[in-house]
Amino acid sequence: MTDSPGQTDGPYRRVVLKLSGESFAPPGERGISMEEVVHIASQTYRAMQQGVEIAIVIGGGNILRGAQFTAGNSSIQEATAHYMGMLATVINGLALQDALESLGCETRLMSAVKMDGVAEPYIRRRAKRHLEKGRIVIVAGGTGAPFVTTDTAAAQKALEIEADILMKATRVEGVYSEDPEKNPHAVLFRNLSFQEVRDQNLRVMDPTAIAQCMEHDLPILVFNYRVDGNIERAVRGEKIGTSVTSRKEAVSASGADI
Ligand code: UDP
Repeated sequence: MTDSPGQTDGPYRRVVLKLSGESFAPPGERGISMEEVVHIASQTYRAMQQGVEIAIVIGGGNILRGAQFTAGNSSIQEATAHYMGMLATVINGLALQDALESLGCETRLMSAVKMDGVAEPYIRRRAKRHLEKGRIVIVAGGTGAPFVTTDTAAAQKALEIEADILMKATRVEGVYSEDPEKNPHAVLFRNLSFQEVRDQNLRVMDPTAIAQCMEHDLPILVFNYRVDGNIERAVRGEKIGTSVTSRKEAVSASGADI
């Protein structure tokens, strides 16, 4: 184990970890459970102690998603609802920051939506400097613009801060042929190309995020955060979850070409 930021024997020097808001609530519930937040914070802190620089882009779906107000509700404008969603990510960011700091981890909360007194403004160079100093950077507020999700923000931030990989933590093992929570026979893919994700309309991240990663050849790893130690395994480059890269053919968990 090394404590020096960016000094690692593993394949990644700097990663962006996308945490959905759902990772802050008990399965199937909404809101914030500090027990869940501390659990994911301690896993992330252990991963960072491997010497990898970690920026976390935090979602807000456990509190509010803009899209939930759009159907059949004319009294709230769609853009307003998305701004409410962005603020939800700041609430989560504050919870995560305190959880990490209660473990002794130095952090900075940065927001793409200006919020003096609560979070630093997101400034790319400053974010990189914090990472170099061994702080976990939490990015809230998404992109700061409505009509997209924090997946897109995660892809954008990963490109901006020159991360080696975008890691998306989910509650299933990786990317499946269908929703595994609905169809137990869904096939888990181990390797996918960006093109396959698009052609097969697979649920990895939102399409804008996929397009950005594809255009800039930024690999994505989708993995299960609920398995203890998986964030550490992911940053060490161990073979878990589903890798999405520019390579060609998809391989299922059984090793068979699909
Ligand atoms: N959001 C937005 N712009 C952004 C990021 C997020 O408008 O750049 C809003 C959007 O309404 C989204 C909500 O914030 O639904 C919460 O983010 P997200 O749905 O990505 O959270 P997650 O599903 O990751 O918990």
